[in-house]
Amino acid sequence: MSEFWNTKTRSLTPYVPGEQPQNKKFVKLNTNENPYPPAPVVLRTIRKAVDQSIRLYPDPESAELRQLIAEKYAVKPEQVFVGNGSDEVLSMAFAAFFESASTEDGTAPLPVLFPDVTYSFYPVFADLWGVPYETPAVQKDFTIDIKDYRRRAGGVVLANPNTPTGLLLPLTEVRAILKYHEKYNKVVILDQAYAPFSKGGTKAVPALIERYPNLLTVHTLSKSSSLAGMRIGFAIGNAKLIEGLCRIRDSFNSYTLDRLAQAAGAAAISASRYFKGTAKKIIATRERISADLKNAGIDVLPSEANFIFIRIPKVDGAKVYAALKKKGILVRHFNKPQTADYVRVSIGIDEEMDRFVAECAAIKSAVK
Ligand code: PMP
Repeated sequence: MSEFWNTKTRSLTPYVPGEQPQNKKFVKLNTNENPYPPAPVVLRTIRKAVDQSIRLYPDPESAELRQLIAEKYAVKPEQVFVGNGSDEVLSMAFAAFFESASTEDGTAPLPVLFPDVTYSFYPVFADLWGVPYETPAVQKDFTIDIKDYRRRAGGVVLANPNTPTGLLLPLTEVRAILKYHEKYNKVVILDQAYAPFSKGGTKAVPALIERYPNLLTVHTLSKSSSLAGMRIGFAIGNAKLIEGLCRIRDSFNSYTLDRLAQAAGAAAISASRYFKGTAKKIIATRERISADLKNAGIDVLPSEANFIFIRIPKVDGAKVYAALKKKGILVRHFNKPQTADYVRVSIGIDEEMDRFVAECAAIKSAVK
């Protein structure tokens, strides 16, 4: 606390990102980065973009990048918004579409809905912008009951596949939620950070985008395109939603993507085939490792993402995290009652994952 902080700053509980150790000692399976390098053309493009032009501001519209994203997803450039990582895009979406308690004329706005087990940045964005929210509990098996989302609300936010579980909500259920909220002009944000690693998850665009003007899908190049270090995220939706996001951005910072990020993003979108290949490898490793862990008596949720959510019976998740860290393997533990027994493990290269499975089996066999 500081006497210099205003009331808002004092009230915040900021998001805590996964550890980023600055040495190379760890097998790093804690923040869902892609273990494969970006396509060579992306690195070449970044190097080429380093010239005297950085004297000039970047294109505030990121026109080339948005054009390429629009072509890839078969939408119009006016339906695409880009930002400095999907975290920024999500934060701006909360600001643009969800009513804050302080702007209403006395009556409290309806709360925005997202599950109690999901990306833990959502409540932080909501608090930052003063947006009231409720968090319906996921079921025992961590699935979402869509009944909880088919009621009057200020909007809905769903990560699909969800994190930290990796579970995918079928598109028919997403559609039912969209349809319900369309009647009340409420926005549904579908966070597709992990969709490139799922079989059905990417189909929301363009099919649902054209049908539902209240749908905003949010995407990132951090995971699927091995570019977490460049901070490139984007959203796709009705042109009016995109215009709303631009109003927020241009009231905050007009140049959210620098020249190198725009160049890297454009090259990555053009190299989609390469990244489909690395996603395929990650999916194959995920399936193999999930089977190996199950054979060793370890519980594994069926994941459609580039991570798995696992539980070693009779060993607390915090202990699993600590035991693995001691062995030089970094995973993520979420210390909430619903998730305390589990750890989330990003899918690395095969050798790393073999080491991980062996260590888990050793932890398991040490318990009586
Ligand atoms: N959404 C979800 C569900 C995530 O897990 C993450 C990664 N922490 C993000 C969005 C943010 O990704 P980025 O800002 O790197 O695009």
